[in-house]
Amino acid sequence: MFDWLIVGAGFAGSVLAERLASQRGERVLVIDKRPHIGGNAYDRYDDSGILIHQYGPHIFHTNSEQIFDYLSRFTHWRPYEHRVLAEVDGMLAPIPINLDTVNKLFKLDLDSDGLAAWFAERAEPRAEIRTSEDVVVSAVGRDLYEKFFKGYTTKQWGVDPSQLDKSVTARVPTRTNRDDRYFTDAYQYMPEHGYTRLFERMLTHPNIKVMLQTDFEEARQEVAYRRLIYSGPIDEYFNFCYGKLPYRSLHFRHETLDRKWLQPVAVVNYPQTQAYTRITEYKHLTGQRHEKTSVTYEYPSDVGDPYYPVPRAENMELYKKYEKLALSEPDVWFVGRLATYRYYNMDQVVGQALSTFRRICQDVPVDRSARVRTQVAAE
Ligand code: FAD
Ligand code: UDP
Repeated sequence: MFDWLIVGAGFAGSVLAERLASQRGERVLVIDKRPHIGGNAYDRYDDSGILIHQYGPHIFHTNSEQIFDYLSRFTHWRPYEHRVLAEVDGMLAPIPINLDTVNKLFKLDLDSDGLAAWFAERAEPRAEIRTSEDVVVSAVGRDLYEKFFKGYTTKQWGVDPSQLDKSVTARVPTRTNRDDRYFTDAYQYMPEHGYTRLFERMLTHPNIKVMLQTDFEEARQEVAYRRLIYSGPIDEYFNFCYGKLPYRSLHFRHETLDRKWLQPVAVVNYPQTQAYTRITEYKHLTGQRHEKTSVTYEYPSDVGDPYYPVPRAENMELYKKYEKLALSEPDVWFVGRLATYRYYNMDQVVGQALSTFRRICQDVPVDRSARVRTQVAAE
């Protein structure tokens, strides 16, 4: 009998497995329907020996010392500040839009105050900022919105930015200085030996067993367990009883090229042309040295594995109905990007899992045999 069955070996499931096993001495079975741990953060060496991210570029960044310290138990880090270029009007320009972006695209020589005035002349005031279009148009005006955001967002999400919650494009700021970093968080690093190694360290514990290529449907019939942590899609757990929650998918095309480098930075976005949204070149992220280079093209799609919850009011309404069911499901905890239908970064999922663990500690007494196991492990 397992104390816990955990569905999903991504950040949500793995953090909880590690905490429950090491801090409460409980026996945990982690299952995943994929043939590997790590969820969407999984990385691997490809046929040429280059470390790539199977599910697109994953860059770790957080402002939380607590989350950074927690993950530092399982990895050393490589400092890395992410920079992105967008191909616009045939040029490569930095995004987030900043002073250099505007000066380069429009052949100007503005300073920060000049750029603030330039934006102010073009920005379209909005009484209320509700949508992903409002966020950008009200900050930089329609021209830059159309160049950088309209095409990319429509391609990525399959709907016009005016149909998406403001939180989507608000992830990308606008700056009047020359800071071209994609993130400004206090901690910006890549795991020194990759994410999969981090997950291996997290899940290597005598109280944790991992079963891959195992679907929840199969495990729930065949495994005896007391409590459940579920990090798959919440609508699937409830058999789509209120209908399907939309998740956006991607198709990844991985390639190794017989040249040292393809592009000047790790990620180049394509807001105006191409069926893919962006190309990622991994050696920039990992610091790996290799004569060849490996890249990934991301093609957005409605069908395929669920990767992104789609932030729109009507979807949140549907999610809230499922959440209500989830709250009354005894001995089950829903955690992670798919189970709580939130467009969360890795650090936010780790934070959510750690706070779920604290809630479990308050609400669920450790059973006596587990307490004995914790004492034995400590001795
Ligand atoms: P997941 O990693 O999705 O793990 C859930 C696991 O559950 C999966 O492995 C799945 O196979 C398994 N599962 C689902 N249903 C079942 C079932 N019925 N039975 C068995 N197993 C099941 N975050 C960042 O911080 N920085 C980034 O740069 C970044 N880039 C991203 C790029 C892309 C293309 C994507 C898609 C996401 C990115 N993220 C990034 C977000 C990051 O991937 C997530 O925040 C994080 O991986 C979510 O962890 P999770 O455990 O909630 O979900
Ligand atoms: N976005 C855009 N153009 C860009 C970069 C981002 O329109 O060049 C929009 C797009 O809608 C995207 C969102 O901003 O989905 C958030 O971007 P982010 O880079 O955070 O996306 P993620 O890495 O999560 O896919």
